[in-house]
Amino acid sequence: DLTCTISEAALFPRRGGPKNLPIAEILVDDEESQEMESQKYKPKLVILGTGWGSVAMMKELNPLDYHVTVVSPENYFLFTPMLPSATVGTLEFRSLVEPIRRIVSRLKGHFLKAEAIDVEFSEKLVEVAAVNAKGEKENFYLPYDKLIISVGATTNTHGVKGLENCNWLKTIEDARLIKRKVLNNFEMACLPTTSDEERKRLLSFVVSGGGPTGVEFAAELYDMLNEDLLQSFPKILRNEVSVHVIQSRSHILNTYDEALSVYAEKRFEHDNVDVLTNARVQEVRPDKIIFSQKDGDGKVTRKELPMGFCLWSTGVAQTAFCKTLADKLGDAQTNKHALETDTHLRLVGAPLGDVYAIGDCSTVQNNIADNLVTFLRGMAWERGKDPKDLRITFTEWRNIAGKVKKRFPQAGNHLRRLDKLFESYDKDKNGTLDFSELHELVLQIDSKLTSLPATAQRANQQGGYLGKKFNRIAQAVPGFKANEVDYGDLDDAVYKAFEYHHLGSLAYVGNAAIFDINGLNFSGGLMAVYLWRSIYFAQSVSFRTRALLAMDWTKRAVFGRDLMAY
Ligand code: FAD
Repeated sequence: DLTCTISEAALFPRRGGPKNLPIAEILVDDEESQEMESQKYKPKLVILGTGWGSVAMMKELNPLDYHVTVVSPENYFLFTPMLPSATVGTLEFRSLVEPIRRIVSRLKGHFLKAEAIDVEFSEKLVEVAAVNAKGEKENFYLPYDKLIISVGATTNTHGVKGLENCNWLKTIEDARLIKRKVLNNFEMACLPTTSDEERKRLLSFVVSGGGPTGVEFAAELYDMLNEDLLQSFPKILRNEVSVHVIQSRSHILNTYDEALSVYAEKRFEHDNVDVLTNARVQEVRPDKIIFSQKDGDGKVTRKELPMGFCLWSTGVAQTAFCKTLADKLGDAQTNKHALETDTHLRLVGAPLGDVYAIGDCSTVQNNIADNLVTFLRGMAWERGKDPKDLRITFTEWRNIAGKVKKRFPQAGNHLRRLDKLFESYDKDKNGTLDFSELHELVLQIDSKLTSLPATAQRANQQGGYLGKKFNRIAQAVPGFKANEVDYGDLDDAVYKAFEYHHLGSLAYVGNAAIFDINGLNFSGGLMAVYLWRSIYFAQSVSFRTRALLAMDWTKRAVFGRDLMAY
């Protein structure tokens, strides 16, 4: 049942809140729930966003326990890991999206195509802006008993000038614009009025950012050039086309195991994809990129690269909506990059148990230093010792650090720094350190780096966790009357705290793929590509998208890529 229920759902019987806006009342519209007295008090669950976090939660929730209302400017779920393939016509756009109403209808919920812009925490109202039939923006309040914020993040600009001259890759529309621009550049390069110099510029493709998205896009672009484009544009010579990746660190894919980064770099070198490491973009002009690059002696040189296309893909930053909320919550929120939650994923500073934040827009206050100390305490306890009397060897330390790294893969660099400190410290201490000395070392970990990675994997786990917990809450307190009874710390009573389990990372690097799966690292050609495809195929959200993906891959193998830009 995908019919739009907005007219029956969004009634505005009253106005209120600090801005005296209309307040939408979402009605119970299923007969089954009306028969049950207790269901009258079903809590209003408002979910913001239709990405990985929200969809994982919706898939886990039992229908009819909550009045679910989902708000998002996009009425579809986007399978982001395969988005780079859509920019070059390997996959069709529609194969990566699933209509959100199909997912919401299982919960007998409502979907509103709108955008959350603020939250009145004390009155439990989300301020929502929607574009009405006249094309005007109208704001209204949506009341909630429980609010889930899973609005993702935006692209980090790092304050660089001229980013209006770049393309981004986050949405289906972004992918469509990239495809159009790349193909148009090829068409313009073939015009008799285009000079040789201009043709080289048009065919210079730059990717700013050597993380997984930038690397996968460069790999897909390279595949398209070699497998389809050059045959379709016989006037263009291979050496007139160039692909460059600008990376600020010393390696691309720097969050992966070093051996895999090196493999990816070698693969790119073999494929003539130019990787510029230790390079920082200063400015992007319509026809060139200005960047600085540090050489082996630490000397920084200013350089320029003519370009016809630039993809900006340099990490994530907080959305305007999340910034508004963080400012509102004042000192309770100290992280400038994401909304902080406790380990039950409840927004810190908001009334306990009302508001949760998951996925890229959030970070869990569960820092690495605390985790290390907890492990050390556990070790002392196992040995029947007081922590202050605990002494550990370097091997034991490595063991603990390994366990922490599994939970916080991004802590790798810091733990390696600690290893070095331990080793140098250790020499004077006859092979062991005591608890207070270790504690001292652990505190040297940069507290800013305590956040979990901004990945679909994390958002998916957090959404699934909340779905399960909300089912438990509904079972534990049937007919839950919001605000009327103080249940204490209900989350803690019904369910464990969230724990992230890193399942590994993978990336496509141009007719080859790399895998970093909990210490088991491997890379390879065709077989690895098939494995990479099958993992994503299995994770794809529905039977419909799986069928479409299979058709796209077959179509590409038989007829080549779709090289039309609409
Ligand atoms: P999103 O999935 O970004 O969803 C956010 C949702 O909120 C969207 O529906 C958006 O429209 C909506 N929204 C935004 N603002 C508002 C608002 N104010 N009110 C209401 N709704 C709002 N991760 C991996 O683990 N593996 C990969 O291979 C991988 N590849 C990627 C490739 C690309 C090209 C990209 C862009 C990302 C990739 N990621 C990958 C990262 C992954 O997509 C994100 O970590 C994940 O999408 C985060 O999920 P989320 O639910 O937090 O946010």
